[in-house]
Amino acid sequence: MSFRLIAGLAAALITAACSRHDAASATTFSAGGSTAAAASRVDSAGGAVAATRDTAHGTLPSNHLGRIPVLEYHVIGGTANALYTRTAASFKADLEDVYAHGYRPITVAQLLDKDFSDVPAGMSPVVFVFDDASPEQFRYVQQNGALTIDPTSGVGIWEDFMKSHPGWKNRGTFCLLSGAAAGHNFFGDSPKFEGQQNAWRFQKVKWLAAQGFELCDHTVWHARLDKFSDAIVQEQIARNQMAIDSAVPGYKIRTMALPYGIWPKNRPLAWQGSWTDPKTGQVHAYHFDAVLEVAGGPTLSPFDPKFNPHSITRVQAVGNDIHTALDRLDKTKTRFVK
Ligand SMILES: [Zn+2]
Repeated sequence: MSFRLIAGLAAALITAACSRHDAASATTFSAGGSTAAAASRVDSAGGAVAATRDTAHGTLPSNHLGRIPVLEYHVIGGTANALYTRTAASFKADLEDVYAHGYRPITVAQLLDKDFSDVPAGMSPVVFVFDDASPEQFRYVQQNGALTIDPTSGVGIWEDFMKSHPGWKNRGTFCLLSGAAAGHNFFGDSPKFEGQQNAWRFQKVKWLAAQGFELCDHTVWHARLDKFSDAIVQEQIARNQMAIDSAVPGYKIRTMALPYGIWPKNRPLAWQGSWTDPKTGQVHAYHFDAVLEVAGGPTLSPFDPKFNPHSITRVQAVGNDIHTALDRLDKTKTRFVK
């Protein structure tokens, strides 16, 4: 059936073109300043102003209507930065940069719930999102029969960073593929891909959930959703949810990320729909609270009346974009501060 063929072709494109880079992303969030005036009306805590400012040490005045950077990563590794690859050195530098700016990580689910309990007062939330479930993001190595997280993989770098940076926690969102090509299948499904084994896939997904990371739906094989019928759109999303449920039974997915940032023709199917398994006749429904775009700059605050959880904008980890976005938030005083 042509579906299979298309599946293979589409999946093969992932490493070359996961999402579109929006050149305008760095300039599209400057309007956030207009929301500051409404702070005291919408959220009384937002109106509190501290006497001093110190961006480096987290004593900024509270601003609950400020913007929140939601960062978007793909492959972590390689020898040079590219649109969908961030080297280990650049990823470490990003972590240091964000930390030094007084940001602490939360998940998209926490953002939706306005849960900033992991962020000290006077500091800001940041959301790290890792798309496409590549082995470079989360790799195991086998030593004397025991599995350990490869310290050079994305998760390994994160864990090392956490050890040396007080207040940094395992909070972030992994937008998973459960059946794409090139090992983009719960972080590697064959030794061909960074030496990973199929049997480790569920273990990695379980570990992430147990640690406090969020699991997010990114379709089975990174389908370009505008190209397909409503039925296949729903199958792509529902079957990926089923795969995540197989790894972590009962896990409630709150967030989905649009492959390539492209909406299905029938937009609401991105967050709500169902698929009937023809083999069992069982109906598999999904209902998410958030949909992630690929660009658009730091997202609006969930306290902002204009916040739309079905269109959460992100900052791609490309070039100097993250640093530029953080600087801009400070310069324009449009940064969310707890
Ligand atoms: Zn993707």
